[in-house]
Amino acid sequence: MIKNWKKSLLSGCLGVIVPFSFSANAQGQANTDIQDKALSKQRKVESDLLADNVNIGFKELAVDSILLQMALNKENLLYLADELYDESWNTTYVKAYSEMNIPETYTIDVSGFVMPIEGRITSHYGPRRRRFHYGTDIKVRTGDTIYAAFDGKVRVKRYERRGYGYYLVLRHPNGLETVYGHLSSFLVDQDQVVKAGEPIGLGGNTGRSTGPHLHFEFRLLGQSINPEEIIDFNDFCAKDDLYVFNKSTSGKHYRRSSSSKSSSASKYTAAGDDKIKYYKIKEGDTLGAIARRHKTTVGKLCKLNKIKSTTVLRVGRSIRIV
Ligand SMILES: [Zn+2]
Repeated sequence: MIKNWKKSLLSGCLGVIVPFSFSANAQGQANTDIQDKALSKQRKVESDLLADNVNIGFKELAVDSILLQMALNKENLLYLADELYDESWNTTYVKAYSEMNIPETYTIDVSGFVMPIEGRITSHYGPRRRRFHYGTDIKVRTGDTIYAAFDGKVRVKRYERRGYGYYLVLRHPNGLETVYGHLSSFLVDQDQVVKAGEPIGLGGNTGRSTGPHLHFEFRLLGQSINPEEIIDFNDFCAKDDLYVFNKSTSGKHYRRSSSSKSSSASKYTAAGDDKIKYYKIKEGDTLGAIARRHKTTVGKLCKLNKIKSTTVLRVGRSIRIV
């Protein structure tokens, strides 16, 4: 656990740690009223902390930023994005909110993300047979440790025989909620506060599942978001420090499934769903060859996948080509 906690603070994924409002300001995004409320609350916490002599000298900048961030995170855990959830704390349902309250846009700090478990995707977010698949399935072995994706608090800890099996829903101070399905057992209790990277359960095959895997969801006030919009599954890091949620487009991006030509799936086809495309790396592939075949350049592939042109390609992994 200590190893993972350290990982969440120090890993290359995280980049430079800056307090949330600084990065949000730099972003220059038009924030909603809700977001403004969150930011002013954040600023108050920051100034209180600075008044308490949390000093940032040039030499100690990195260390002090980490301490400041830890203090902010602790403070945030008392609020858990109340500006979005209005202090509601339903311990029964994944989706327990009115769509009316979903903001048009909301900037989410995902810099503290830790991958719940590193594994290959076995099923993508999007239309699947007759049901919509609201998460990404990740291959696990039964008993593998599943980690919290962010700091947060356990909102739901339940069993659903025909669905999620044993599952957890965590709420996070950044506004997101994450869902972990088909677990074989729990390592946390309802209402427990957890750190990013802390073990929360063991992977399994419970509920509607045909083999051990983790069903992993991101939601904001109940609206699902394709995890591949937030996570880069090549290096299991967040794609960016900030994710800008958009009510009308978030969750609408997904790969066109092979059955999307059939009429039952076509109703799910959303604008922009063909913007993201992946290619599964085969024996003997090189970046140059993949780029040529898909009418793109090695530079573009490197940028899209955050890799170097010298990165060794692993057979079976997926690489984003568009
Ligand atoms: Zn699933």
